[in-house]
Amino acid sequence: MSVPPDSGPTATPPGSGSPQGPTLATADSGPPSQADLATIEAIAALLVVAGVTVTALGAQLVKLLATKVSAAAIRLTLKAMTSVKITPPPRSPTSATDYNTEAEPLYRAAFILNSARRVERATKAGRSQAEIIAAERRHYLLHLQAAAKRQAAAAATDRAARRYGRKIGWYAVLDRITSPECRAAHGTNFDLDKRPSIGYPGSVHPHCRCKPGKPWPNGKSTDVATRRYTRRAI
Ligand SMILES: [Zn+2]
Repeated sequence: MSVPPDSGPTATPPGSGSPQGPTLATADSGPPSQADLATIEAIAALLVVAGVTVTALGAQLVKLLATKVSAAAIRLTLKAMTSVKITPPPRSPTSATDYNTEAEPLYRAAFILNSARRVERATKAGRSQAEIIAAERRHYLLHLQAAAKRQAAAAATDRAARRYGRKIGWYAVLDRITSPECRAAHGTNFDLDKRPSIGYPGSVHPHCRCKPGKPWPNGKSTDVATRRYTRRAI
């Protein structure tokens, strides 16, 4: 059995909509543009008001995305998303879990933008509504799986913090398939009071093998060492 590659872009099929690393890409590859980042942040703000559900979003979202995708595409996206039930994660103050919960609307917002664009392309290509919704349900379930991975990574960070204190070390598995961002993060430290820009160890991309642990003596800051990758993960 072969080991899946531990690399960013190649670990995620183009357009899969998986929210790790390249997930916030608003086209099928590459980081989101400044204009899309602004849109993603605006959708995220709506999601916070709506309690990170999509049911209350319809009209506002259509208005917000009017220049980017069609209203019909957004409605289909929301239909697919609302057909999947979500249980919001519990919150505990000042923990990695808490910071992760706060970041989640941005990932969901990026998913909505990506999803609406896929729906629009599929509609133009003549696919049926049923086919489109089935496809978007699969994308959304992948998004939820990645969200669960982020939550698990945050919980692992909280466990490391209980053991080692609020400064935490980043440990990557270094071999030929280590992704550049995980390689850059290895040997660095981050503080529990600020979520690393690339996410917590273990959630940088779908096959991330990184772990949190004892802080490195004289370790650099994780955010400084991974600065060039941060737009991919917000
Ligand atoms: Zn990793």
